[in-house]
Amino acid sequence: MNDYLLNAAYLVAAVLFILGLMALNSPRTARRGIFLAEIGMLLAVVGTLLRNEIVSFEWIIVGFIIGSLIGGAMAIFMPMTAMPQRIALSHSFGALAAALVGIVKYNEHLPHVDNALMVVIGFEVLLGSLTVTGSLMAFGKLQELIKGAPIVYPFQNISNIILFFGTVSLFIILIFFPGLTVLFYVLIGAALLVGILMVLPIGGADMPVVLALLNSYSGLAAAATGFAIDNKMLIIAGSLDGASGFFLSMMMSKAMNRSFANVLFGAVGSAPSGQAATGQEEAKTVTRYTPEDVSYMLENARSVIIIPGYGMAVAQAQHVVQELSASLIARGILVRFAIHPVAGRMPGHMNVLLAEANVPYDLLCEPEQINDDFPNTDVVIVVGANDVVNPAARYKKDSPLYGMPIFDADKAHTIVVLKRSLNPGFAGEDNELFYDKKTMMVFGDAKKTLTSLVQLLKERAAVAV
Ligand code: NDP
Repeated sequence: MNDYLLNAAYLVAAVLFILGLMALNSPRTARRGIFLAEIGMLLAVVGTLLRNEIVSFEWIIVGFIIGSLIGGAMAIFMPMTAMPQRIALSHSFGALAAALVGIVKYNEHLPHVDNALMVVIGFEVLLGSLTVTGSLMAFGKLQELIKGAPIVYPFQNISNIILFFGTVSLFIILIFFPGLTVLFYVLIGAALLVGILMVLPIGGADMPVVLALLNSYSGLAAAATGFAIDNKMLIIAGSLDGASGFFLSMMMSKAMNRSFANVLFGAVGSAPSGQAATGQEEAKTVTRYTPEDVSYMLENARSVIIIPGYGMAVAQAQHVVQELSASLIARGILVRFAIHPVAGRMPGHMNVLLAEANVPYDLLCEPEQINDDFPNTDVVIVVGANDVVNPAARYKKDSPLYGMPIFDADKAHTIVVLKRSLNPGFAGEDNELFYDKKTMMVFGDAKKTLTSLVQLLKERAAVAV
């Protein structure tokens, strides 16, 4: 393919990626953003396949078939609720590709690897390898194969810091002595270990920050691959991915009220403070209610805030949540949705589900927009949320949630909690909100409970007419 044409294709693809990212800023334009980015990716792939350097298509076709089979199977068989794990796996695949390309490039240039090339390859294998294992650990935690809460052991921070700086030192030595093949593979091994040990102590509330950070690392590894194999498209796409992942992790850190250093080396939850809770523990009884009880409560409410969480995704209750909100609005009740940045299992999880159910965007409020309104709210309905309304985040210093801004649901007049049991959320922290005298616990699958609730409200409205 003519070089001018190839560069033009790459340029258009890069512009489409940037427009796509911009459109992802708002749920209104997000679908268009994905579509633009897909066209950009198609152009980039087709352009690359037409490059003159490609001598044989055999292995490309084999890779294409295997990749399509795995990707297709994942798209068809993995449920929507497993989307966060799927994304963690995708990061790991992308990073593995970058690390493997780095290893091939290194061997191709042996015994005379240029120092500048070693910088690029070093970045590629370092970031690629630690992202592979880090993302697999994140996958394990999200799939609940590994404990979601922080896993801590004595001298963890200091040993992690030593390992991290040791790995960086290996990288620097290799830049000056690229021919030290053994050191190259030790670097890969050390980076794989860093990925595992970096994610082990992170749990509960801090997982979203790490997921976004791993996203950023896999993008940067791809950008380094672009330098190594001289592909401008990979450099651009990888840099965009790296930068957007980094911004996302900063936004998530801010939402969690934590600094990066605290997330990575804080081993949050590892240092029991011995600080006692407020004493609510004595009266550990909950009050069980039925959808019918809740329907009476709602009929008399003037304002309602719905707080969705991961349980709404599990129950796939977004459509019936929308029906409930519409029927309450039709009765003249002020209804809003409180969306926590870390609710669910991936950034924007609740926004995506509610957008799918056509909940108007202007009903969705972020914590800072709505938190002051809870004391004046008649009913709060917590739909499968737990950690994002757990008051332990305010005072319990040894909790993985400590410091995370939460919704002040406990300040509302009445709190309705829809969940199946008293089990804790992702962070593994018991929730005193369930034992609050103002709380009505309605046990069961959120979709079933809400369906009965909507039905009851409809029947009562029909009788009233
Ligand atoms: P939580 O994980 O705290 O709680 C979800 C609750 O949903 C559970 O307590 C569960 O209780 C309930 N539930 C599950 N299935 C159903 C069902 N079918 N019907 C009704 N309830 C159900 O969710 P939150 O959204 O409040 O908090 C998210 C947590 O996940 C935070 O700790 C966050 O840090 C973490 N996280 C977030 C990520 C992100 O990017 N957003 C990524 C990784 C982790 P029960 O079993 O009793 O029904």
